[in-house]
Amino acid sequence: MDLSRFPRRRYTAFATPIEPMPRFSAAVAASCPGGVGPEVWIKRDDMLGLFPGGNKTRKLEFLVADALEQGADTLVTCGAPQSNHCRITLAAAVKEGLKCRFVIEERVPGSFHEDATGNHFMFRLMGVEAMTVVPGGSNMVAAMNQVADDVAALGRKAYIIPGGGSNALGGLGYVACAQELQQQMLELGLPMDRVVLGSGSSGTHGGMLAGFLGNHIQIPIVGIGVSRDPQDQEPLVLREAQAVLDLLGVPMTVPPESVLSVGGYWQPKYSISNPAMVEAIQMLARTEGIPLDPVYTGKVMAGLIGLARKGFFKPNERILFLHTGGLPAIHAYEREILGGAEALT
Ligand SMILES: *Cc1c(COP(=O)(O)O)cnc(C)c1O
Repeated sequence: MDLSRFPRRRYTAFATPIEPMPRFSAAVAASCPGGVGPEVWIKRDDMLGLFPGGNKTRKLEFLVADALEQGADTLVTCGAPQSNHCRITLAAAVKEGLKCRFVIEERVPGSFHEDATGNHFMFRLMGVEAMTVVPGGSNMVAAMNQVADDVAALGRKAYIIPGGGSNALGGLGYVACAQELQQQMLELGLPMDRVVLGSGSSGTHGGMLAGFLGNHIQIPIVGIGVSRDPQDQEPLVLREAQAVLDLLGVPMTVPPESVLSVGGYWQPKYSISNPAMVEAIQMLARTEGIPLDPVYTGKVMAGLIGLARKGFFKPNERILFLHTGGLPAIHAYEREILGGAEALT
């Protein structure tokens, strides 16, 4: 599919690497019935550009280009107190000479702290212009419109980026990723049997699915929910994938059966730890030396491990795990990840 007619800024100078994970795959297999498990590979979208990158970098290449084309001088977006999306949006704003304001949704009551570490520290380090904190469940669109009005009252022009950067334009970032992956599989002679990724605001899952469908890539995608079970998540992903195909002018209806998400690994709540997440983070760190984050990729990898143990994958199936980033948040969860863990030395 031709993305060249959409304005795009480039924040990463290379295709993110695809790496084998033999020690991790062996550790997963050892915990599976019969000692046989999938062959797990990783695509390092945690190495994307901006401060430090993650999946939002790809979406922002198209969103920020649009903001610049519209003559905006201020980016306005929203997220949780440890939002990776807010941090990467701010990094893009700084790089482009724009100002940036956030609406922070306190999804867990009392979780916003002025002196917090992790992403919050980076908000302050990179000089966010203003943060408006609202209670969980607030109307984020209305709150961002209010901030945009405040910016306009100063004689400036705001550009609103939705939560997670997940609209049709942002989803193009993962169409580009699908095409990058297709090229890499060709060059490496390494076809994948399945892709496992995180499914939240759904730009990643929906964008990748649109990219696969539009490019006739027949690899099933499993989205592990980070905040919703399938009955709530799959309609979001379907809508996102369709919006992306429509924006691209591809005359295709997203087949509902192509949308697969898995629940049960994000509980008790978005951004709150669980033991399977802690196990997954420790396991990958100690077999491959690759850190995961506690809010997204730790739970997504817990899902991959859990599905392997349930026999969901075929023996020796080649799986690509998409590492979507999020690493600064790990420092806000150090106690959960190492405290009380067994075999800690
Ligand atoms: C935002 C985010 C996700 C989820 O991606 P969506 O496009 O919102 O579904 C996954 N991993 C990390 C690290 C994120 O920051």
